[in-house]
Amino acid sequence: MKKQALLLLLAVVSLVSMSFRDPHTRKSPARSVSRTLAFPVAGTKSHIRDKWGASRGGGIRRHKGIDIHARKGTPVVAVCDGVIVTRDHTPIGGNTLWLKSPNQSWTAYYAHLDKQLVREGQHVKKGQVIGTVGNTGNARTTPSHLHFGVTQGHSWVNPLPYVKYAPKVAAVSPAAKKKASKKSRRRSR
Ligand SMILES: [Zn+2]
Repeated sequence: MKKQALLLLLAVVSLVSMSFRDPHTRKSPARSVSRTLAFPVAGTKSHIRDKWGASRGGGIRRHKGIDIHARKGTPVVAVCDGVIVTRDHTPIGGNTLWLKSPNQSWTAYYAHLDKQLVREGQHVKKGQVIGTVGNTGNARTTPSHLHFGVTQGHSWVNPLPYVKYAPKVAAVSPAAKKKASKKSRRRSR
């Protein structure tokens, strides 16, 4: 009887301590997937400024993504292998791309792009350049940045855990790449 009471007490204590655990230390599935992805902006000269939930429109809206600031024209890459399911231009997002991977349950959203370098329906590889950082749409008056969002089903989720530990791809601008391949072609002649 005493033993049973002790076991019951142990069970209660562990339940209580579990519910008091800091939610930030809990492992999110996105966090482990993060290491397998590529950071959406190439190069090391980018930084995340406005995070998920930041106030928008004087507090009437919440920011449904993260803003990754970088110089205009910085290459933007596919975070995973997948298909460009939508290529669009909208008043808010400006030049946008939606990337869906058959291996992931979520969809990535890229907004305010200066250039869209892929077509709708195109298959892309992780790390492939798909556009460049800009300030199109409602970002016209702000410094250039990539607005990066993630949808799960029909709702937006915080994209930060998805990219927090994602390795950054080396920045090779599409123009420089073209020049380099021309050079190597010339050399091989
Ligand atoms: Zn944003």
